[in-house]
Amino acid sequence: MMICPPRFWDEYPHTATIITTYTCTASCKDCCFECSPASKARLKYDEIINFLDTLNKNFKPIKLVVFTGGECFLLGKSLFDAINYATNLGFMTRCVTNGYWGKEKNSARQIAKRLASTNLTEINISTGKDHAEWVPLECIINAVEALSEYKIKTLIVVEQDTNESKILNELISNERISALINSEKIKIQKNIWVPFHKDSIKRKETNFVANTVDKPCEQIFENIVLTPNNEISSCCGLTMEHIPEMKLGYHNGKLTPLVFKQQINDFLKIWIRTEGPYKVLKEHLHGSEIKIDEIIHPCQACVHLYQNKVIRENVKNKYIENIGRVIKQFNINERLKLELISIDKQKNKDDI
Ligand code: SF4
Ligand code: SF4
Repeated sequence: MMICPPRFWDEYPHTATIITTYTCTASCKDCCFECSPASKARLKYDEIINFLDTLNKNFKPIKLVVFTGGECFLLGKSLFDAINYATNLGFMTRCVTNGYWGKEKNSARQIAKRLASTNLTEINISTGKDHAEWVPLECIINAVEALSEYKIKTLIVVEQDTNESKILNELISNERISALINSEKIKIQKNIWVPFHKDSIKRKETNFVANTVDKPCEQIFENIVLTPNNEISSCCGLTMEHIPEMKLGYHNGKLTPLVFKQQINDFLKIWIRTEGPYKVLKEHLHGSEIKIDEIIHPCQACVHLYQNKVIRENVKNKYIENIGRVIKQFNINERLKLELISIDKQKNKDDI
């Protein structure tokens, strides 16, 4: 089915995510990419630079480049050089890390100083019950203190706690952290933590999950991703490695917007973006073994849509009758987004 590319298409993708490596200093049991010190997939420095050059040349809407993993700080000098390179190309930059490098106050300061010299725009530090088994909270506290000394915008993202764990409260009530939060030098938020194993502890806090699980997916069409295996992906969702349809091919230095934009002809992706994978799954899971009340994250719903044979068949049998409604809503949503983007652009011009 061909869908005429709408005007908003010229504004996407606005974010590029570089999953630098699947190697990690931690081995969190429910890590979505199964990262650990034993995982070896890793991008070479030249591959990262080549991707940045391609973005700069062929993907004009890109504003933000995110460096993540695994643990991106394991790249050492290559990470700092790559952030610097991205900054010099005019991109905003973000790092996502588990903060293991905050073990000692002095070395944390050295890292923060080097990051500041790259003009990194912001950093996200992940922690929580599983993370803390590998990276003590003291590391996180040292890291965020050092980052705030160098005025680097910092967000701590905490796994949703179990009934027994109280990591979020522990951090908020820590004197050093609360001083930084109160002076607005750092921010802290919790995140859904998906159980990927049968014996994982369920962390279902009803209101929090209900507010997020059935949201439309905003990653798809807005993000372009380079994986540690040098593959291009449509998203860096938790289950992305288990959905072949998210892969757009290998990066060979010749990536053009056409490869990305051909996704406009993929109705399921439009549907996921418009109504969210949870809603689509809920309406098409009859006959399968999937239980909707066990889904707590949109990416969990997404992988069932693509992988479960019964659900795929149900979707296939019904999608024609959904096309009109979904495409109409898709166009309305995107038009509204386009208007918001142009209001933002105008406001930025007025502020200058
Ligand atoms: S720190 Fe992050 S990337 Fe590393 S194992 Fe844990 S969840 Fe995975
Ligand atoms: S919901 Fe699907 S498309 Fe969206 S980020 Fe998750 S896996 Fe990717």
